Amino acid sequence: MSKPKIALYWAASCGGCEIAVLDIGEKLLTVAENAEIVFWPVAMDIKYKDVNAMPDGSIDICLFNGAIRTSENEHMAKVLRKKSKVMVAYGSCACEGCIPGLANQSYRDEIFAYAYEKVPTVDNPEGTKPQTVTEVQEGQLVLPAFYDTVKTLGQVVEVDYFVPGCPPVEEQTWAVLEKALGADLPPPGSVVGAGTTALCEECPRERKEKKVKRFYRPHEIVVDPDQCLLDQGIICCGVVTRAGCGAQCPSVNMPCRGCYGPPEGIIDQGAKLVAVLGSIIDSTDPDEIAKACETVLDPLGTGYRFGLASSILRRSMMR
Ligand code: SF4
Ligand code: SF4
Repeated sequence: MSKPKIALYWAASCGGCEIAVLDIGEKLLTVAENAEIVFWPVAMDIKYKDVNAMPDGSIDICLFNGAIRTSENEHMAKVLRKKSKVMVAYGSCACEGCIPGLANQSYRDEIFAYAYEKVPTVDNPEGTKPQTVTEVQEGQLVLPAFYDTVKTLGQVVEVDYFVPGCPPVEEQTWAVLEKALGADLPPPGSVVGAGTTALCEECPRERKEKKVKRFYRPHEIVVDPDQCLLDQGIICCGVVTRAGCGAQCPSVNMPCRGCYGPPEGIIDQGAKLVAVLGSIIDSTDPDEIAKACETVLDPLGTGYRFGLASSILRRSMMR
């Protein structure tokens, strides 16, 4: 019997999801024994022409990590969708846009102006910026187009399964690979390897009534190691985040940042966080409430750190 064929691809992301695949350790040997890895540019010398030559539907499962930032990302998402029976959005960038999606607060021109001119360490007196086509003596040099708006994988191709996390924890990666190897995948559209409830359900901290006069960043107070962080006024996104990581951050005194995306029943993680924070401010006085709101620094980066590209807002208004 032929082994299932697996592809792994890295689009707009930091590369942490690729490392997360290696985190499964010796189980990788089980994958290698039971499957054929046919495309994994970060680990194999393979060219786009090789994947183009594969028959449609010949790859059994593709783990696609990264958001869609450029035309190349979108092109590869479409090619791999066509070649793969099962397409998995692997990690927060593919699922929701993640940190690359935060750039949806700006336009391409602003991003280029900053990156290629204003950054203090940049030495670019002529203000040279990337062009999609550049004529040189030898012919034309072509670069992918950089989009104004970062998209999620599901916004450009049909996705069968979602594996959230920045990056997904080892158990989750193994869960999806194990299910794929055993051809035991849940119904299409499912989130694989994570829970359905909010992270608070798996957090070991003790929860009491949430009533706060202001919000804190973790360095601003001495944290009680056993009490719920949000009860102490530290903005912890666990209330609006999907369980599955084992509450890794609250377990080491750091608030959850929300990298597993919203749990079942929450459409927009950032909007829900705003509602939660509003509901726990312990005052009815408008001035006190306004002062408490001022202690929420960077509300967009807090509530939409991972999910701006997939949120109802999706991006700042286009000119
Ligand atoms: Fe939920 Fe965070 Fe409180 Fe834990 S610390 S119970 S994850 S809000
Ligand atoms: Fe991600 Fe929150 Fe888990 Fe930390 S606690 S790994 S931010 S889901």
